[in-house]
Amino acid sequence: MGAPGAGKGTQAKRIADAHGVPHISTGDIFRRHIEEDTELGRQVKQYMDCGHLVPDELACAIVERRIARQDCADGYVLDGFPRSVNQAQQLERVLELREEPLTMVINLLVQDEEIVERLSARRTCPKCGAIFNLKFNPPRNGGACDIAGCSQVPLVQREDDKEETVRERLRVYHETTEPLLGYYSSRGVLVNVNGEGSTPGEVFEKVEEVIANRDEACMP
Ligand code: AMP
Repeated sequence: MGAPGAGKGTQAKRIADAHGVPHISTGDIFRRHIEEDTELGRQVKQYMDCGHLVPDELACAIVERRIARQDCADGYVLDGFPRSVNQAQQLERVLELREEPLTMVINLLVQDEEIVERLSARRTCPKCGAIFNLKFNPPRNGGACDIAGCSQVPLVQREDDKEETVRERLRVYHETTEPLLGYYSSRGVLVNVNGEGSTPGEVFEKVEEVIANRDEACMP
């Protein structure tokens, strides 16, 4: 968990790679549907473009279907889901039925002003989904992706990373998503990691440390 631009996508991908489990980003799934112009893509685009959350039932249905796939049998990393107490309650019900308790909720802490600065410089690769930051984590190829197999694919700015939309996303985050921290803290699964002022690699070291010390890290 974390505000938009806190580094959820970057850290979630690293965790998934390091632990050999799928990375499930509801934002990525929705963006793919928009790109492919599916029925779901057309439904969610209006919400995403203005920085609002898509309706809970759409987000929950997507996740429920995704985690039922075989590659999730040994675990998975959820990125950007749940984003409301209602979504968290629905997830809890699904996980109970599947007899898969939620292991850990990692919350990346970053101040709003740093978020606005970060997001205006964020760029992504439209082909492989790699995330760069022109200020803090620039690609080695100037304006193109530097991941093997992708080089020279020009990076793009997400539609919802424009400043006005970022401020709206932050407002929605504080109003609807932040209350989830209390929800997970009282269940003893929440751990906070400072996501500020460090490189993605340094934040990942802290993340791996709390994962390794999970039992001590998650105190109600
Ligand atoms: P993200 O890539 O996680 O920043 O998500 C981008 C956008 O997708 C959000 O601003 C929402 O409009 C939508 N979205 C992603 N995940 C969810 C979710 N769990 N619930 C509702 N909307 C979501």
